[in-house]
Amino acid sequence: MPFPKPHLEAFESPLRTQISERYLDQSGVLQDTIRVKAPKAKLEDVRLVHSAYLVETVELMSDIGSGQLGESSYASPDLLRTALLSVGGALRGTEMVVSGEVKHAFSLMRPPGHHATSSNPMGLCYFNNVAIATRQVLRNNGINKVSIIDFDDHHGNGTSEIFYTDENVQLISVHEYDYENFGLGHYAEIGYGNAKGTNINIPLLETSSNVSYETTIDRVMGPALTKFKPDIIMVSAGYDAHYADPVGNMDVDSQIFWRFGSFVREMVKATGAKGSIWVLEGGYNPFSLGLSIRASLEGLFGKDVPKLEDQIEREEYQQIIDANNEVVEKVIETIEPHW
Ligand SMILES: [Zn+2]
Repeated sequence: MPFPKPHLEAFESPLRTQISERYLDQSGVLQDTIRVKAPKAKLEDVRLVHSAYLVETVELMSDIGSGQLGESSYASPDLLRTALLSVGGALRGTEMVVSGEVKHAFSLMRPPGHHATSSNPMGLCYFNNVAIATRQVLRNNGINKVSIIDFDDHHGNGTSEIFYTDENVQLISVHEYDYENFGLGHYAEIGYGNAKGTNINIPLLETSSNVSYETTIDRVMGPALTKFKPDIIMVSAGYDAHYADPVGNMDVDSQIFWRFGSFVREMVKATGAKGSIWVLEGGYNPFSLGLSIRASLEGLFGKDVPKLEDQIEREEYQQIIDANNEVVEKVIETIEPHW
């Protein structure tokens, strides 16, 4: 995707997945995995979530091959094909988990999807991969409830909008939040109608570290999943909260991504869910992205936290930890009455 200067290189580029895949291969973490190619999704799959207008816009702009579709979302000649492959990865992974072929799946595809609403492409996202896979999986017998964990640096606004009134889909999004401008992603947004309490936002302050993310897992995500008891778990796996990421402003390292992997593994066991499907969202430093995904996979496989080269000593800001603890208490106070 093109991006104005001073970025010398577009940050949402094929290098993200190419460098990550090469790193994962060399690390040996893929030894016990099955690797499959993503098929191209059908337009009718995309229409499970998106308006005819959005689908036609992506088709048209892809034909033109340039221009802007929405805020920070640009067209290139291969846009439609690439976006359909990215949806296809999420759908194929989901099928493999539902059929019992694998317990967990990871779709290492781009472009990301969680900012795309039912009618608007935005934030480098065109089709909402995780939302389409969620709608599709709910058509299966025995899959009535889906939880989506979104740990991308940014609020999963598209996924939130799509399922805001759907009581069968629980979305838990932990993200960086700007308390000076109060955009979407505040903990006061809890869902609507019967779905009240199923939309859970954990808006953390800029420069939050592993400690605050640990707190959100222990205090909010664990209890929320245990209460909701999903039949399957989807993960919007964005890695732009990493301290080396050029886009996010958080301060976590690969240890927290290991923790998310190990947490999802525990939750699948504890809730009796069929398994988990991870769909790549952000993460724009191709080097820290590979490390972070590796850490998640090791957690998901039940391995100990790996010692990786990004895990260096960094300053902890106690005032940020304290402020985040208060946010977490507010989230619990707001959500709990609806459980
Ligand atoms: Zn992001």
